[in-house]
Amino acid sequence: MAATRAKRTPKKRTPAKRKTKRKTRRSAAKKRPAKKKRPAKKKRTAQGSSRRSAGAGTRRPRAGGGPVTTNPPGNNPAPGDGSLGPSGIRVRMYRVGFGDFFLLSLRTAAGPKHVLIDCGVHACDIKTIHEAVTHMAAETGNNLALVIMTHRHADHISGFAKCKDIFAQFNVEQVWMSWFEDPKDQDAAKFQNSLAMVAQQLKMALAARSGPEDDELHFMAENVTGEALPLGAAAAGDGGSNGVALKVLHGGFKNQVPVAYYKAGDVPTLPKDLVDAGLKAQILGPPHDLNLVKQMSGKNEEYLAAYDPDVAAPVQPFDPSLQVKGENYPPAAFQTYGRKVIEHSVADSQPDMLAAKARQADNTLNNQSLVVLFTFNGKNLLFAGDAQWGNWENFLYGGKIGTGQNNLTDASRKILSSLDFYKVGHHGSTNATPKDALEAMREGVVAMCSTQPGCYGSSKSGTEVPRIPLLEAIEKKSDNQLARSDQIEVKTEAGTVAPPSDDVGALGKPFSAGDGYIDYAL
Ligand SMILES: [Zn+2]
Repeated sequence: MAATRAKRTPKKRTPAKRKTKRKTRRSAAKKRPAKKKRPAKKKRTAQGSSRRSAGAGTRRPRAGGGPVTTNPPGNNPAPGDGSLGPSGIRVRMYRVGFGDFFLLSLRTAAGPKHVLIDCGVHACDIKTIHEAVTHMAAETGNNLALVIMTHRHADHISGFAKCKDIFAQFNVEQVWMSWFEDPKDQDAAKFQNSLAMVAQQLKMALAARSGPEDDELHFMAENVTGEALPLGAAAAGDGGSNGVALKVLHGGFKNQVPVAYYKAGDVPTLPKDLVDAGLKAQILGPPHDLNLVKQMSGKNEEYLAAYDPDVAAPVQPFDPSLQVKGENYPPAAFQTYGRKVIEHSVADSQPDMLAAKARQADNTLNNQSLVVLFTFNGKNLLFAGDAQWGNWENFLYGGKIGTGQNNLTDASRKILSSLDFYKVGHHGSTNATPKDALEAMREGVVAMCSTQPGCYGSSKSGTEVPRIPLLEAIEKKSDNQLARSDQIEVKTEAGTVAPPSDDVGALGKPFSAGDGYIDYAL
């Protein structure tokens, strides 16, 4: 991948839209003036609006040569530990579009050991994942101590399918997944199958419709099933499907790797070298309670969540004066199906019902995320996957809020108040970092968010991803130590350059940018 440019000079923007964000970012950028003036650029297309493939039509000259990174582009350091921080830790976030690809590297007596946490992209694929995986292979010498699949969404696992030939060269010591992936757990299998069926039905229903707003719902349904195939049943050779990715994770590495399945509270087994080096891990999610996993959001816990008409209520295409209830029709009208059946099928065919169901399926899968807290040399790092309300709720309050207690448990308060690093949940979406959680986090916690705007949600309904008020709150909590993956430019497979997103400002102090990735060494 190409030279990557971290520091950006704030520039004039087209008016309107994301005012609040710009305010914060601009003030942040002011405090950290760019090292070098960037020449005036062509105005980019509005990335926040209807972009489906970031980078298209937004070329700009690549940064020329200046030493802007601590990890020189194109120069994979030999697997030494020079780029690990004083505590022997480095978190690397690859920029792949809307998807997670994190590499945690730790100093051990046997040299640096690596933990891969997810590897995928789906909507807003900027076509960099192949090069990113190639880069990661060189960095790790094809050795991973641990691979964590947080959940089976395509934007977290598609890289294992797309790059299965590269992963086939990897020696991996352990794979961790959530209990929902345990083939011996019948509850899990039943739940996954029903979810896959809902997603398939959604895809079929959506195929009969067309409209730009439906793209997002398509992506959601696809993200669950992966490339239009039933879960786990993908034919070999299908490049990016979830089925192929799961096959790789269950037996596609060079060696035979044991897979462990965990739920909140389980005590996980770590690879020996990492244990010897002092690494500890706690599993904070997902809960075992299926009712919690189905919970999409806790509206009071979201950052300035606007009333979301898409989810809250069906669209009423006709004026109320024109609407008629079933009881107003003569009984003969319902001879074949009955009134209730017809009323239900009319309600179910409303476009917004499909939207609500797509979101529900998407959120349910997010809530299956394996949430892991690592502790190493006194530093605490929280990887939250895409955990949403139900998953967080269990961790924060020890169960469904209102049924036990309404306050944070001592354990969750203690964990959050001593966090050094937070992998922002679900690409910065509004229902994935509850207010209570962020408020309890340590001031100055460093955060990373892998995201790409314009793929999901809309700022009109307060559902845009990433959610700007949430990122602003994280910036404040972190003392401007939040990195977004889309803050760096990256060369795509097609040889074009995916520029940084609009208004993302300069990379914060603790981060350094490399060849398609951002590092935080601590
Ligand atoms: Zn995701």
